Amino acid sequence: MSTTPSSTPPADCDLVVVGAGLVGLATARELLRRRPGLRVVVLEREPEVAWHQSRHNSGVLHAGIYYAPGSLKARLSVAGSRALAAFCEERGIGFVRSGKLIVATDSSQLPALAELERRGHANGVAGLRRLDGPGAIAELEPHVRGVAALHSPNTGVVDFLGVARVLADDVREAGGAVVTGCAVERLTEASGGGVDLTYAGGRLRARRAVVCAGAWSDVLMDGRPSQPDVRIVAFRGAYRTLREPAAQLVRGLVYPVPDPALPFLGVHLTRGVDGEVHVGPTALLVGARDAYDLRRIVPGDLLATLRWPGTWRMARRWWRTGLSELRGAISPRALAAGARRFVPELTAEDLLPGPAGVRAQAIGRDGALIDDFVFSDSGPTLHVRNAPSPAATSCLALGAAIADRVEQRGI
Ligand SMILES: Cc1cc2nc3c(=O)[nH]c(=O)nc-3n(C[C@H](O)[C@H](O)[C@H](O)COP(=O)(O)OP(=O)(O)OC[C@H]3O[C@@H](n4cnc5c(N)ncnc54)[C@H](O)[C@@H]3O)c2cc1C
Repeated sequence: MSTTPSSTPPADCDLVVVGAGLVGLATARELLRRRPGLRVVVLEREPEVAWHQSRHNSGVLHAGIYYAPGSLKARLSVAGSRALAAFCEERGIGFVRSGKLIVATDSSQLPALAELERRGHANGVAGLRRLDGPGAIAELEPHVRGVAALHSPNTGVVDFLGVARVLADDVREAGGAVVTGCAVERLTEASGGGVDLTYAGGRLRARRAVVCAGAWSDVLMDGRPSQPDVRIVAFRGAYRTLREPAAQLVRGLVYPVPDPALPFLGVHLTRGVDGEVHVGPTALLVGARDAYDLRRIVPGDLLATLRWPGTWRMARRWWRTGLSELRGAISPRALAAGARRFVPELTAEDLLPGPAGVRAQAIGRDGALIDDFVFSDSGPTLHVRNAPSPAATSCLALGAAIADRVEQRGI
């Protein structure tokens, strides 16, 4: 969707941020905090901030359990989770520290559960505790069945849209501009230094640019060879909403033990800040970067996905998983069967249609699903190439890491 700009962007500024999702807004806010008076403009194509991934997600403030120790994700999710919890409490944004169980349903999953526990401790996740046996699990979640579980008391749920709105207010209050309805069409290095941006109806010159375009992060690449050699492939994640009284089967957050080879956490049950319980998300490769409706196809997006050799290499490796995701996406019965492994009382009749999100997943030329956050520099522009989950949780820490990188290269 594109609309007219909410205001006219200035003709020049010090820093332009493309994309008013959580990552772009947190970056703009952080640089303004560090450098009062910096002329910062955030350009967002859609009519409001956080239109895409930053509002269409599971709403979970992850504690940092899953991620490879030493990775950027591990560091920024643990720090980001603490920072965002404090931010929500301070600013009155919806946040519930509901706690989470990762449940092993049979003994074959115990080694993977032990690895998650090891990672969580290595990453410094506070309060992580192993529960052995169905009795210990039932004390926290009476309707959940499993042989063992990890309990993370500090995992919670957040109103991420509320976070984005407060971040945008902070940017404006610090003198920055957040212009919505303004799609950047081209970004080129200016001959005298800086960056020229073209948007519908105008141009803007900035000394530095940071592109935080989510699913479109590989579109504005300045015509330079793309390093790292990754492209975004869109995966639709659909949820179903639990009707009452089935919603009472879950108190907080209940997750399966994920496949360690995949960057997705598996179909989980989450009680959101509004009290609704969702089951999902599925992960289905789709034909548009904004395929909230499964039938939506954008020819350019689909062609880009099909032309990318990594897509085919990934499909050869994961076709079985893809088929099972397809089943879950089209059949509530299949989705319920998956969730019933750890909540046996759940039936397909308990699942009502729910919301959907679209994940921006970077895929390498070799078909690898890129797990960590990835940035690349191109002259005066920093591109955020991969900011998958838990980038919403990590947004404040990610914004600080991006600000460090911008300052190191000079602003
Ligand atoms: C189904 C799903 C579940 C998830 N669950 C969680 C979770 O529970 N917890 C968690 O921490 N993370 C979760 N995530 C991940 C998290 O939502 C994202 O990692 C995070 O929101 C990324 O933020 P972003 O700002 O990079 O991207 P986005 O929020 O997608 O923002 C990018 C913005 O750039 C704008 N844009 C793009 N191109 C242009 C252009 N040319 N001109 C102007 N503007 C442009 C877009 O309109 C968009 O607003 C989930 C994601 C999905 C999809």
